[in-house]
Amino acid sequence: MITGKNHIGNRLSALGSKTYKTFNPQSNIENGHVFSEASKDEIDEAVNLAAEAFKAFRTISGVKKAVFLRAIADEILNLGDALLDTYCSETGLPKGRAEGERGRTVFQLRTFADLVEKGSWVEASIDTAIPERTPVPKPDLRKMSIPIGPIVVFGASNFPLAYSTAGGDTAAALAAGCPVIVKSHPMHAGTGELVASAVVRAGQDTDMPNGVFSNLNSSGIEVGQHLVQHPKVKGVGFTGSIRGGRALYDLAAKRQEPIPVFAEMGSINPVVLLPEALKKNIDGWAETYAKSITLGTGQFCTNPGLLLGIKSDALDEFIKKLADGIVHIEPGCMLHPNIFGAYEKNKSRALAQSELSLVADFENHVTTNYARQALAKVDGADFLENLSLHQEVFGPFSIVVQCEDVKELELVISKLEGQLTGTLIVDNKEMIEYQSIIEALKNRVGRIIFNGVPTGVEVCPSMTHGGPYPASTDSRFTAVGIHSIKRWVRPFSFQDWPNDLLPEELKNENPLKIKRLVNGEWTNNKI
Ligand code: NAP
Repeated sequence: MITGKNHIGNRLSALGSKTYKTFNPQSNIENGHVFSEASKDEIDEAVNLAAEAFKAFRTISGVKKAVFLRAIADEILNLGDALLDTYCSETGLPKGRAEGERGRTVFQLRTFADLVEKGSWVEASIDTAIPERTPVPKPDLRKMSIPIGPIVVFGASNFPLAYSTAGGDTAAALAAGCPVIVKSHPMHAGTGELVASAVVRAGQDTDMPNGVFSNLNSSGIEVGQHLVQHPKVKGVGFTGSIRGGRALYDLAAKRQEPIPVFAEMGSINPVVLLPEALKKNIDGWAETYAKSITLGTGQFCTNPGLLLGIKSDALDEFIKKLADGIVHIEPGCMLHPNIFGAYEKNKSRALAQSELSLVADFENHVTTNYARQALAKVDGADFLENLSLHQEVFGPFSIVVQCEDVKELELVISKLEGQLTGTLIVDNKEMIEYQSIIEALKNRVGRIIFNGVPTGVEVCPSMTHGGPYPASTDSRFTAVGIHSIKRWVRPFSFQDWPNDLLPEELKNENPLKIKRLVNGEWTNNKI
């Protein structure tokens, strides 16, 4: 049931005076539930509870955390159609997408459960003492990852389940042993509340400390700002715009005790079309990219917003076919009138640049909040000059950059801001001939794709979802997959600590049978 209240630990609360509603972009009307924005007292209470909960939660065994994470997954599934219907009414997305995203959310929670149950993720490392070493004896040193403390997670507008309330950031932080306070995304507050109720039930059923999870409503930037500045908050996870992510990053850096902000932000995901590979399959690549650019109405962080090629007849034909493909795809509804408004504004701003020429625009009538997909083109030299064309237009919009030659193509790639992904359309011979292009692209992105599309993010350990700034604030970490847990831990060493007082992970007997680096050798053996 949706109450419109905040979850402050296990308690529901609505003390604030500011209220708001979510919006159904398909029917273009407000949804019925009224949400109460968290007051300053409620924010403080949630953070204080999280800090208290951390004292117990930080040392809870991996097995118990796994039980908690699996219970969250089960409780989310138990929400049934109520969750799916709310999701659809707050996003305009179809039920199939809601089911798919729920499946992904549940999979992420269960994957983290498996990870912490097995236990080796803590990267235990042991160097035993050498008392007889000269000139000084070597002490016994044992290291493992430990959680950093309460984490604030900002729900993403474009993934109400998989990157929001109990999404990747929350699952990773809880798996690490960090309590989570979610700053619910205002566009899908009902979906957020339902998922929050599932997390709270799971926590109570599995005896987790009260405060290990809270969910706070807000419809403006104040709640998030207050949370990031709260001295007891020790880390932040964010998915959204560069402007929002950067503002929070700066705020966190200005605190008396600065804290890490792991923000995954804008990306235009360049696709490099090398001449031979393009010429061999113009129709195929045009069709594939028409679908990728418009997938999910372009509202994916991996949307291909930039196609880079070298001027040729083949590139001209590709542009024509891609334009034709794009305008024959039915427009889709955007997540919210604000996202739709931002798309229209940013698209118009880009098209107002004199260097850019429009090559395709869906011209037929569209329903309110439905986005007209568009394609534009620009010369390489103009693109290099006009930095505004390097900015993300969130939605089904892409620019083709026509470079004079390989040298200009390499320059364009090297001048791009950091990106989540880079894609190469390339044949085997070109892999050798265009080495410098490939190296330039690798230097700007977190994931490189061979003859494919950037849309579609597999959740698995080898996925990197992050990249050089501004794709993310710290390119050393991923936001997707089990290794995202590393954002919420720090390395910690015990020196000459008595064996029976060490955590299980570091004891001589290796009771958890985890993989450890013992005196330079990886082993599951005891010492
Ligand atoms: P957003 O504007 O960055 O907001 C994300 C969250 O951060 C919201 O909960 C927002 O709070 C909060 N926030 C934003 N600025 C803040 C600030 N200065 N201080 C404190 N909190 C702040 O993103 P969005 O609302 O999800 O979508 C808007 C635009 O972001 C889209 O049109 C798109 O351009 C971009 N976006 C990009 C991606 C991507 O993956 N590339 C994904 C999603 C969105 P309130 O809403 O309560 O103000």
